[in-house]
Amino acid sequence: MTEVQHVTGNHTAGDADADVIVVGAGPGGSSAAYHMARHGLRVLLLEKSQFPREKVCGDGLTPRAVKQLVKMGINTDDGWLRNRGLRVIGGGVRLELDWPELASFPDYGLTRTRLDFDHLLAKRAAEAGAQLRTGCTVTGPLLDRTGRVAGVTTEQGSFTAPLVVAADGVSGRFPLGLGLAKRADRPIGVAVRRYYRSPQRHDDDYLESWLELRSKEDRSKLLPGYGWIFGMGDGRVNVGLGVLNSSVAFGKTNYRQLLVDWLGSTPPDWGLNDEANADGPILGAALPMGFNRVPHYTRGTMLVGDSGGMVNPFNGEGIAYAMESGELAAEIAVQALARPAGPARERALHAYNGELRARYGGYYRLGGIFVKLIGNPHVMRIATKHGMPHPTLMRFVLKLLANLTDPRGGDAMDRIINAMTKVVPAV
Ligand SMILES: Cc1cc2nc3c(=O)[nH]c(=O)nc-3n(C[C@H](O)[C@H](O)[C@H](O)COP(=O)(O)OP(=O)(O)OC[C@H]3O[C@@H](n4cnc5c(N)ncnc54)[C@H](O)[C@@H]3O)c2cc1C
Repeated sequence: MTEVQHVTGNHTAGDADADVIVVGAGPGGSSAAYHMARHGLRVLLLEKSQFPREKVCGDGLTPRAVKQLVKMGINTDDGWLRNRGLRVIGGGVRLELDWPELASFPDYGLTRTRLDFDHLLAKRAAEAGAQLRTGCTVTGPLLDRTGRVAGVTTEQGSFTAPLVVAADGVSGRFPLGLGLAKRADRPIGVAVRRYYRSPQRHDDDYLESWLELRSKEDRSKLLPGYGWIFGMGDGRVNVGLGVLNSSVAFGKTNYRQLLVDWLGSTPPDWGLNDEANADGPILGAALPMGFNRVPHYTRGTMLVGDSGGMVNPFNGEGIAYAMESGELAAEIAVQALARPAGPARERALHAYNGELRARYGGYYRLGGIFVKLIGNPHVMRIATKHGMPHPTLMRFVLKLLANLTDPRGGDAMDRIINAMTKVVPAV
């Protein structure tokens, strides 16, 4: 249960335990902590679990996420499996689409299990100077007499800081403790995944996605979502599927069974329809999309990553957005905390809301429209059947869905996508 406690007086960085407390050491929290510590802030990074720990995920990283790893000085040569792009299967077509060549992003993606990916990032934050405490569950916000957050309570006691970053994932217990509930008018997805031993598929140099998911109840209707097979390079693949809430079938479908049924249709030599090759259970979680929790800054708290509902509605990618928002939160925090406590600092912190909207608001609005459209099985069928045979169109789709364009000086596709995200009003 989230609990709210109060402190007397206004805490300033001088007498507080840290300049910033970061709740949660997933990709969002570790990125925020790393960039803040690098700029000289005293950062306390609190994580409830002990590393290494499993996190339910597809383990797939697009060039957007790779860029963030590079920014954290992480060497992506050893222990990672590189991919060249996306293989899309649907409408009777199998298309290999390489990641675009851009000035702004690298031209490769990666996979790595979250088991050690998150550990690596947390260690990087600690190396940069953040104080990492694992096994430390934050139980709620600590408020000053004005109702502004002045720190956190944990099972081991409370810690004070003039700024808290909530990077506690989809459950968002910390923002919930401040009364920030999820918005029901934003898209949400559900995804499940499982590891299988598959010597045939483990070292694939493309991320693979299957567009035709059908529920057993009604084979004629396509579900809005996709299945994936991502090679992990360690003898295993991560296979899973994600479905959006815009279809009638949402909430009524047994996603674990859907996964088993889909894998039953894959070639037997891949080993994905044999229980003996499974490594662990099927696990699932929700995907909070399109800013489903706002405001992202209020009363001394910044929301980062899943806590602020930042998963991309077009493709279900969340790691890159968690890391990017972590970096942005750090940039803003560094400037804000250099100002005296009070209105000038609050003005700087409130800029986080506007900057996030400017970066992703239009794109997420488009994503919301896309989610609604493909929730109609006819639209999904027509798009798959008539889009897939056209490689140029699909290259455009890849850029749009993976949010990979150059903001300036890009090609015609980049210019169209950038213009589209600018003309729609931001969410
Ligand atoms: C099945 C599935 C597949 C996915 N596949 C992909 C994919 O292939 N690529 C991709 O980019 N995204 C994928 N996503 C989305 C991605 O997993 C998330 O968007 C991403 O993990 C968000 O990072 P985060 O740092 O915001 O939150 P999280 O990764 O959830 O990290 C939150 C951290 O906070 C800690 N925490 C929570 N509460 C507390 C507390 N009270 N006190 C202290 N610590 C706390 C947690 O233990 C955790 O370490 C997938 C999601 C699912 C469910």
